[in-house]
Amino acid sequence: MADWDTECDEEPRRKPLSALPEWEPGRWGSSAGERPSSSAWRGGEQRQSPPRENWRSRADRSGGRGGGGGVACEFRRSREQGSVPLCFRLDNSFIGTVIGRGGSKIRELEDSSGSKIQIIKGEYESDVKIFGTDDTQKRAKCLIDDLIKRYGERPERDSKLYGLSYSNSAQVDNSANGPRKPIINWASLRENKEKYEAMKWAGLPPIEKMFYKESKVVASRSEEEVAQWRKESNNIICNDLKEGEKRAIPNPTVVFEEAFQCFPEIMDTIRKVGFLKPTPIQSQAWPIILQGLDLIGIAQTGTGKTLAYLLPGFVHLDSQPIPRVHRGGPGMLVLAPTRELALQVEAECSKYTYKGFKSICIYGGGDRKGQINVVTKGVDIIIATPGRLNDLQMNNIINLKSITYLVLDEADRMLDMGFEPQIMKILIDVRPDRQTVMTSATWPDGVRRLSKSYLKDPMMVYVGTLDLAAVNTVQQKIIILPEEEKRAYTRHFIDCLKPQDKIIIFVGKKLIIPWSYLGCWRRYLPHEEKWWTLLWKHPYLPQ
Ligand code: AMP
Repeated sequence: MADWDTECDEEPRRKPLSALPEWEPGRWGSSAGERPSSSAWRGGEQRQSPPRENWRSRADRSGGRGGGGGVACEFRRSREQGSVPLCFRLDNSFIGTVIGRGGSKIRELEDSSGSKIQIIKGEYESDVKIFGTDDTQKRAKCLIDDLIKRYGERPERDSKLYGLSYSNSAQVDNSANGPRKPIINWASLRENKEKYEAMKWAGLPPIEKMFYKESKVVASRSEEEVAQWRKESNNIICNDLKEGEKRAIPNPTVVFEEAFQCFPEIMDTIRKVGFLKPTPIQSQAWPIILQGLDLIGIAQTGTGKTLAYLLPGFVHLDSQPIPRVHRGGPGMLVLAPTRELALQVEAECSKYTYKGFKSICIYGGGDRKGQINVVTKGVDIIIATPGRLNDLQMNNIINLKSITYLVLDEADRMLDMGFEPQIMKILIDVRPDRQTVMTSATWPDGVRRLSKSYLKDPMMVYVGTLDLAAVNTVQQKIIILPEEEKRAYTRHFIDCLKPQDKIIIFVGKKLIIPWSYLGCWRRYLPHEEKWWTLLWKHPYLPQ
């Protein structure tokens, strides 16, 4: 573990805290095998480096862990561990990036690579030492290179590795002309796009998607019966978004058996939970998804949309030609906008446990190390927020190539929250012939674009959209005000309310209402009194 938790967010200091002896390999240790050669270490560096300081030793002085810091001590420690460190230098401007807030990034790098990383800070550059086996050292070096690349130009001015046979010339041969930028031949890439795509996905097992057998009862329903049922079931509207000739929309399955007659264990699960009949979205989505078609479900939370995609997902996972243990990774991925929703989906997943499928919820702010441990042990279903999943993907902790069933849950909210770049990066690694289900409460341009990019010839099921129209017994008034009059108008409006009136105020940002504004409404908020009073006393509020 990194020991510099208290140090990492600091700006590089102009002067070291104490005059530690300059790193000179010849002075420490005696075994030629363990010691870097002096010339290799110095490399072609012209500038005389000022004294370097070990970050751990700084942590030690400030009461950090590690004990007995200092360069010599650290080097001794490495000898005790029997590993020759992989060493290189890094511009100080990148050290904060490598260490991360509170040491979080360097811990993450250590966890991901299985190595131990030490940074000894000099005035302009720092020495980075990676301890561990050849493999873990290489892995850590790649992760650091990746990280630096992502943050801009590579800063290694003199990346001569020493004391190790490993050398990646492409990364190390960084001449005095400054950082080398790879030249990308876009024309060639475009020309050979299909070839590269085919190479990327070559060798993957085939996918099975069709698991639906329409029952006689379902098939025998007339068009009028189906139309009537859809009308009575929250006004369900279905559409085939395939261009060209339209396909027939499957008839709904109005009882559970009609959808899952061939899957007795799914039926057992449903009976155990005690549901009486499918919700409208389930009735209409199951025959579509079980046929292996992509689906867009326009439905809100509370409509049963989670089970609408989970149960066919279980069938899909269980019915693939390659057994679960040989697939080399998870088979189902659910992307959700927030940690709350991801946890909710995970709870649903666990509630309907099927054939021992293991699921994990991966979200930002959660215990990253714990999540990595579970993932690396093997899971069947990943439910994740895009940011954290993308982080694990970029660090090669998760293999997404095995995903054959993908769900983009609440796509509109994911876009609102700015997750599109992460979704794009995640989906680069998910095989294109997967089955995809997308849910969204709304159908704005962004969601349409997303569905065009990531779904293939989907069918669409809208639930309850027409319910959004106001009934004609409600009088609606639209009042357009200048910005500066809004507050006064709101106050006047609240003052005019009668005690039995109810009000909902939708706002763009947190609304702060001073206690004095509430007038007679104060008596209806006894338990909130402190909060309202506190806001009222805030100096920035009008009194
Ligand atoms: P969701 O819309 O997925 O957030 O689901 C809302 C709630 O409805 C969840 O607690 C589900 O367990 C529950 N639910 C899902 N399907 C059914 C059903 N067919 N009958 C009754 N409740 C259901």
